[in-house]
Amino acid sequence: MTQSDPPDEAGRPVWARRSLAAQAMGAVDPATRAVVAPLHVSTTFLRDPDNGYSSGYSYARPDNATVRDCEAVVAMLEGAPAAMLFGSGMAAATAVFGALEPGDHAVVPRVMYWGLRRWLMAEAPRRGLEIDAVAMDDLDALRAAMRPGRTRLVWIETPGNPLWTITDIAAAAAIAHEAGARLAIDSTAASPIHTRPLALGADIVMHSATKILNGHSDVVAGVLATAIRDATWERIGAIRSGGGAILGPFEAYLLMRSLRTLPLRVAAQSATAADLAQRFSRHPRITGVLYPGLPDDPGHAVAARQMQGGFGFMLSIRVAGGEAAAIAAAARVRLWKRATSLGGVESLIEHRASVEGPGTPCPPDLLRLSVGIEDGDDLFSDLDAALQS
Ligand code: PLP
Repeated sequence: MTQSDPPDEAGRPVWARRSLAAQAMGAVDPATRAVVAPLHVSTTFLRDPDNGYSSGYSYARPDNATVRDCEAVVAMLEGAPAAMLFGSGMAAATAVFGALEPGDHAVVPRVMYWGLRRWLMAEAPRRGLEIDAVAMDDLDALRAAMRPGRTRLVWIETPGNPLWTITDIAAAAAIAHEAGARLAIDSTAASPIHTRPLALGADIVMHSATKILNGHSDVVAGVLATAIRDATWERIGAIRSGGGAILGPFEAYLLMRSLRTLPLRVAAQSATAADLAQRFSRHPRITGVLYPGLPDDPGHAVAARQMQGGFGFMLSIRVAGGEAAAIAAAARVRLWKRATSLGGVESLIEHRASVEGPGTPCPPDLLRLSVGIEDGDDLFSDLDAALQS
């Protein structure tokens, strides 16, 4: 693909991220002048007579042109020199831990995506990795957990699923770097629109692209973006390529199509989430709303500093009457969809504690809400009726 607008002399893109995303970087297919990139499905590529591969492609497991096009858009959104797409968010996250060596120590948050927490508990010891979980909103706890010379990775997630705990990215990066470790961040709930972790000092950003990046609940994908192309990035690339964890071209094509509207979807979904958070915080059947956009949220001050354009499309509510009342309310909604996952254009509601099981930091009266693009009044009145019945 050709780029219609090269970066300026300082290497910055000429256009705003929203403009670049809308046009998938302004790329035009040189053969047809198509403004939508072709979908490359070939698994294999012709060798040159001199036995080389002058196109740069040899086989589709290590690399694929549609995947590369999509990676370029994610890298632009994150302000990264490179991004890598994976077959799921978990494949992306576990590749980062897979790049550690036996004997290495990593610090992770107590509040994090439960699937990764479960994977770490089961798999990390088998790989000779030592993992400590700390309250990441407490920087002293993070400092105390660091073992200079042994801690190689600090993994954070902000806002942290499902309590939407905020971690100070710049401060966590400084603590990690001082001890000789890298900072990697699961930024799924923030999206590249609200937070640019690399600009705040993070080394690697991860997204479950299954969520808001794709946004239509029809692709499972993951992505990493890096601050620098170093030996760790190479190693992660070798893990993806050797282990066959690359995203398929059809999924990359769909993801690319979704990225074009990402800024609009994030803005609309976050605005409705902020409005619902306000309204639910005055609701008689709700005892608490967890949303970093609320001024009295413990993470609000840090979130206001490191998030732009809103506080995200995710919130959780605590229902008066405990677990049974929460499950009953989720059973009565008509517009919200009772389903797992998040970030899609349809709003989802989920009783998280029953999904996460033992070890969850999630209180039993909590319902997680992923806010879509429906009318905000409809979303409010549907859940209001379910809570009041
Ligand atoms: N990170 C977060 C915050 C998530 O919510 C999820 C999935 O729900 C993941 C990572 C894992 O992503 P995937 O389901 O694409 O493997």
